[in-house]
Amino acid sequence: MPIVSLKNVKYRWGPDRPLTLDIEQFEIESGERLFLHGPSGSGKSTLLNVLAGVLVPEQGSVECLGHDLAKLNNRDRDRFRADHVGLIFQQFNLVPYLSVLENVLLPCHFSERRRGADAGGSMLQEARQLLEQLGLGSDIWKQAATQLSVGQQQRVAVARAMIGKPEIIIADEPTSALDADRRGRFLDLLLDKCKAFGSTLVFVSHDLSLANHFTRALSIADLNRADLQEIAA
Ligand code: ADP
Ligand code: MG
Repeated sequence: MPIVSLKNVKYRWGPDRPLTLDIEQFEIESGERLFLHGPSGSGKSTLLNVLAGVLVPEQGSVECLGHDLAKLNNRDRDRFRADHVGLIFQQFNLVPYLSVLENVLLPCHFSERRRGADAGGSMLQEARQLLEQLGLGSDIWKQAATQLSVGQQQRVAVARAMIGKPEIIIADEPTSALDADRRGRFLDLLLDKCKAFGSTLVFVSHDLSLANHFTRALSIADLNRADLQEIAA
């Protein structure tokens, strides 16, 4: 059973705009660590937002964990995302006035499921454990997230995405600000955690050299039939 299944998905950013996504079929198996690559402007971020239920296609079905996201109302889609999807953005989107620990705990405030996923321990314990496993010691937990280095902020973003063990982790070019050395270490941490948690990972990048870290690599051009030239124009 695939964990995600798209059929005949069409998405455009406005009524007068060309199609940005035109995808006949796309399936992701549970436990896959999928690398999705393509040049800038090829619709990678748009696709991730459709997978996460942030954007709704004008046509087609987006089945995630047995729910058709295109059929849910806004509230139920937001609930689905809070419960089942961990998001890691290019800019990390940490909340500047919250501490490291508060940033990691944020998804738990929006999801009963993620508050209770670790039945044995408290969410605070899980947050501390995650931060430690990601190499972020207790000396920085009370600091504002924006006081950290880029590499540290990235690991906070991973902890925040993974708290409560969501089934799907979606990462949009999270390594683009890192040098090659730190990029490799960051990737290994993320992949290890996904493996340990049994989370399915969808990782997007334009950097094809990262592909060999993943269980499957896919070019968005093989997936998306939308006319990219027209999009770029
Ligand atoms: P990628 O992530 O591969 O660089 P995007 O999905 O961001 O590609 O963009 C694909 C196309 O969708 C862009 O060329 C742009 O025209 C359009 N697009 C992306 N984001 C927006 C937006 N917020 N509003 C309007 N159009 C957008
Ligand atoms: Mg993008």
